[in-house]
Amino acid sequence: MPKSLKIAVIPGDGIGPEITREAVRVLDVVQKKLGTFELDLQYQDTSVDRYRRTGVAMSDEAFADCKAADAIFLGAIGIPEVRLPDGTEVQPEIVLRLRFSLGLYSGIRPVKYYEGVQSRIMDPRIDYVVMRESTEGLYASRNGGNVVHDEIATDTMVISRMGTARIVRAAAKLARQRAAAKGRRGKVTCVDKANILRSYAFFRKVYDEVMDEFPDLDRDYAYVDAMMINMVLWPERYDVIVVENMFGDIISDLGPATVGGMGMAPSADAGDRWGMFQPSHGSAPTIAGQNIANPIATILSGAMMLNWLDERHPGLELKRAADLIDASVAEFVRKKEGLTTDIGGNGTTSGVGDGVIAVIEKAKLG
Ligand code: NAD
Repeated sequence: MPKSLKIAVIPGDGIGPEITREAVRVLDVVQKKLGTFELDLQYQDTSVDRYRRTGVAMSDEAFADCKAADAIFLGAIGIPEVRLPDGTEVQPEIVLRLRFSLGLYSGIRPVKYYEGVQSRIMDPRIDYVVMRESTEGLYASRNGGNVVHDEIATDTMVISRMGTARIVRAAAKLARQRAAAKGRRGKVTCVDKANILRSYAFFRKVYDEVMDEFPDLDRDYAYVDAMMINMVLWPERYDVIVVENMFGDIISDLGPATVGGMGMAPSADAGDRWGMFQPSHGSAPTIAGQNIANPIATILSGAMMLNWLDERHPGLELKRAADLIDASVAEFVRKKEGLTTDIGGNGTTSGVGDGVIAVIEKAKLG
């Protein structure tokens, strides 16, 4: 009997439901092909649309279901014109609630060029991962900032030794795994603004202390402004990048711009116990419901979920399933047929799902 794993699925808003549908179809085909695990999908009515309908974006029951699941799989959340009374968007009520309440401190954002993608930069050497600290930094001030007499506004940066050490350690472990898989030395680049702010100088100091535990890895430092140039002109220099929350939010959008855009940017939010998997992009409301959004970031996020589950449930061939999805996406994209417009084709969301599934179905399991 294949082992069953509970997955809380949040399709969300905008393009969320259509891209989630394709990723779930791909996961379904892969689990049937391998026959070693079964994904028990539990769909959650959690979205900004739900907030609009009921006044609550995510019920406590839905949160409890996510907490009880083996992993959370999310499409995209957000309707920009629906806002909270303080003027901010409702989307963080779901995404940040899950990140902060479940301790999902590692924002793992791979940036990899897939041959066949039409992009401003087409460099097959681009293959690195941004590790964004996701529970502190400047965003730790959310709901805690001050506006004084409608004249002055402040938000406070929070960098802790514990929070920095655990993200640097996670980044270093990932660099080690990548070095072993690729048969070369690994490197972790610390991105900050340690020349200006004490908080970032402290982030760098803790990075150095933790990196002492990993003498097999190279150290590297960059200020975030210089990094904006490096990521465009010399992206092949990078392996794993570790960065504070807000800077990580920003650079993990620049990275995808060098490999075809947000439709090619999967991500994971992982902690020591829970993991949430979602494309790096948002709900893209202007293209929602037209069957033209690129589902590849979401499909690859599904592969990241299987990889992460493999460490917790060994022996179910979950890594093999993840590798099969990644290789099938690569093969589908390489043929340049049926790609969506954002990466140079004129195909559809469902057509991409069909194309990736066709490759998976033909694949011979060694
Ligand atoms: P966005 O990522 O939704 O869109 C940015 C641009 O990329 C748009 O031009 C969009 O059309 C394009 N794009 C995004 N995904 C695409 C895909 N799969 N295929 C083709 N093109 C794609 O960012 P935004 O416009 O700043 O935000 C829209 C909404 O999404 C907002 O409500 C925002 O709060 C929300 N958001 C949610 C998340 C999340 O769910 N984790 C993340 C970021 C933004």
